[in-house]
Amino acid sequence: MKAKYILFAVLIILISLAIARSILPRQIDDVRPNRLCEDDLVNSSSVLMVIPIFENRSIAENMSWCEQILMLNKTLGMHGVYHTKKEFSEVRDENYVKTGMEEFRKCFGFYPSVFEAPQLSLSNENEKLLKSLNFTILHRFHYLTHKVYHCTDYEKKSWLMLLNTLNKII
Ligand SMILES: [Zn+2]
Repeated sequence: MKAKYILFAVLIILISLAIARSILPRQIDDVRPNRLCEDDLVNSSSVLMVIPIFENRSIAENMSWCEQILMLNKTLGMHGVYHTKKEFSEVRDENYVKTGMEEFRKCFGFYPSVFEAPQLSLSNENEKLLKSLNFTILHRFHYLTHKVYHCTDYEKKSWLMLLNTLNKII
């Protein structure tokens, strides 16, 4: 009898998640010059999470790309500063975050207000720091309730490919 209730509860949760994922805005992560998903995915997404400085090259070095992204008329957020591994699990200060914010502003003409840590790895201290800079932070739960796509070197990261496929199913 008890097992039935548990099964029912799990089913309700799964259905709710599926509904949330089909309604809530789609998002693309790891957006940077020369790295954007296929057109249909971009068109159906409303949030683009941008890496301000990737492999030591600022997005602001490529103003035609900045304009192209702005023309898409999407919500733009900041995804790390350099997007190194566990970047925001290490001790970071205000200047570090502002370096990313500044490159973002040079590119798009405004400061970012949404933040997502690379690999969603964020220490409590850094979370406080980002909140003090008025960022809205995307957490792990966000990944469950939203379809988040990655346009990256899929060959190297098969789990990202799996996530993209999963997004098509649920
Ligand atoms: Zn990322």
